Amino acid sequence: MSSEQLTVRFWGVRGTLPTTGPDTIRYGGNTSCVEVEFGHRSVIFDAGTGIRKLGDRLAGQGGIEADLLFSHCHMDHICGVPFFAPFYDARNRIRLWAGNLLPKGNLEGAIRSIMSPPLFPIEIEAFQAEVQFRDFLAGETLDLGSGIKARTGMLNHPGGAVGYRLEWVGKSIAYITDTEHRLGELDRTVLSLVQNADLMIYDCTYTDEEFPDHAGWGHSTWQQAIRLANAGGVHRLAIFHHDPDHDDAFMRKVEVSAAKAHPRGFVGREGVVLKLQEEARSAGPGLSSTACR
Ligand SMILES: [Zn+2]
Ligand SMILES: [Zn+2]
Repeated sequence: MSSEQLTVRFWGVRGTLPTTGPDTIRYGGNTSCVEVEFGHRSVIFDAGTGIRKLGDRLAGQGGIEADLLFSHCHMDHICGVPFFAPFYDARNRIRLWAGNLLPKGNLEGAIRSIMSPPLFPIEIEAFQAEVQFRDFLAGETLDLGSGIKARTGMLNHPGGAVGYRLEWVGKSIAYITDTEHRLGELDRTVLSLVQNADLMIYDCTYTDEEFPDHAGWGHSTWQQAIRLANAGGVHRLAIFHHDPDHDDAFMRKVEVSAAKAHPRGFVGREGVVLKLQEEARSAGPGLSSTACR
């Protein structure tokens, strides 16, 4: 791998609840987890159930250094933490970040709350890796080392959630979930994070037609994603955080409509791998459907 290649792997794209079965085989049923690999470093967005398979891949490498950035700590985004194998290997160094919990709470407390009896049989003392919990305030810029910066911003979600923009050697990836838009408006924080991004991953739980029935639930629509992507000059858009009620047939229709509205809009699918360096900005979606391994 070239030192300046950036690889994005989608390990979980479902929102709210893992949704397995014959109707979700194509797009996948695991909840939020996206890995961005920069040369020898991994940055991971969220630890939904998708992170288990990522853990299996990284476990074979030994001595990994990774940053795990949480959008927030709702269950669908953290329930994979106890099943992430690299936590149980003393050779690994893993930093966990959250930006919506201070001052009332903190990330270590949130993880401890799901890894303690009676909810779970083992506690975080079972981790053998060097694990650091880093709480910050949304809006700060994080220096992840190796030239990787993460700009952050607060999203509109019950309890708050953090949107991220990763920047590295002139490339940028925005990860924006979970967030609710206001009708007829483009969220200025979101727009700033996605401006000219090479890839924008966005909460598309609903359609515009479904949206009014879910006001206040903290989610957005694929049509709003298109509006933001067009306004922000986004190169490529991944529709993300699919509603558990949206089966493969439904998502296929969304994909067809989205591709008409944005030339490089696509529905995030478990197992998709994007290599950002190899595809010039003029290229098509260029999705590799090789299984994440
Ligand atoms: Zn969610
Ligand atoms: Zn949430």
